[in-house]
Amino acid sequence: MQLLDGKYISEKLKTEIAQEAAEVLTQTGRKPHLVAVLVGHDGGSETYVASKMRNCEKVGFQSSLVRYEDDVSEEELLEKVAELNADAGIDGIIVQLPLPKHIDPEKVTEKIDHRKDVDGFHPLNLGRMQRNLPSFIPATPYGIMLMLQEYGIQTSGKHCVVVGRSNIVGSPMSILMARNANPGNCTVTICHSRTPDIKKYTLEADILIVAIGKKNFITADMVKNGVIVIDVGMNRETSTQTKSGYKLYGDVDFEKVAPKASWITPVPGGVGLMTIIGLLKNTLAAARKEVYP
Ligand code: NAP
Repeated sequence: MQLLDGKYISEKLKTEIAQEAAEVLTQTGRKPHLVAVLVGHDGGSETYVASKMRNCEKVGFQSSLVRYEDDVSEEELLEKVAELNADAGIDGIIVQLPLPKHIDPEKVTEKIDHRKDVDGFHPLNLGRMQRNLPSFIPATPYGIMLMLQEYGIQTSGKHCVVVGRSNIVGSPMSILMARNANPGNCTVTICHSRTPDIKKYTLEADILIVAIGKKNFITADMVKNGVIVIDVGMNRETSTQTKSGYKLYGDVDFEKVAPKASWITPVPGGVGLMTIIGLLKNTLAAARKEVYP
């Protein structure tokens, strides 16, 4: 078993991104600029946004945070997005999900200028991705593709099983793995909560990508020898053993599955760190006007 080490790859790629950000500063007189909008005080969202901001600073980007309380109206939030869209000093905009129930996330996502949509959630970017055109790719699937590329994992002709079909992970991941590209060119099966006997499919997987949010859902009896496992799950449980007060578990029972796998991502230290890289690369591409010249 070999580890797909998100810590190692993300640090390597951050060094490259920092060099490219310095070039942008020299050429344009300003740093790539990411704005994050955070509504409310959800613990997970606070952690993710703080990490995104911190990583921006590390690679020499400018980052700004716009905060609202839970009771912000949908109208006010949409007005703010329009204002950020119009600001030429901003390259990328993200609105951290989930949003409070009275705000329609689809409306907010579609309000973001597709040229600044560095989360890659806008339908225009998703459509362009599906057609293999230049687009912003959702950060987590993008990070996974970068990881496969960096480790030289051969995907062509392989059977990839994706468990989970969310708009932000499972669904775009399945499109990317099926695209005529490298990485890609897989035969893809998508499983979800209505799939009976999931094990029948996971046992057939050469590459297994799991994004469902259920601790240790994939057990050793569900995979074949030599499988490549990408565990996207981030399941937080309170713990007295860690400084942060919680412990993170994946969707895959790492201890039992790892001995059967040829490659596997750990949790933490795997996909989560690569997601940040996807976001940073999208922001850099936005600043360089690479996707929409
Ligand atoms: P989501 O929007 O809740 O979607 C979960 C998906 O899993 C749905 O498609 C659901 O099926 C499917 N599912 C749920 N229970 C299932 C079961 N028992 N068997 C088969 N399929 C099942 O979740 P998400 O946003 O994609 O996130 C999934 C996990 O990845 C979470 O743990 C999240 O924290 C983590 N995550 C990590 C990163 C990272 O950077 N590492 C980024 C994003 C998300 P239906 O469609 O039928 O409901």
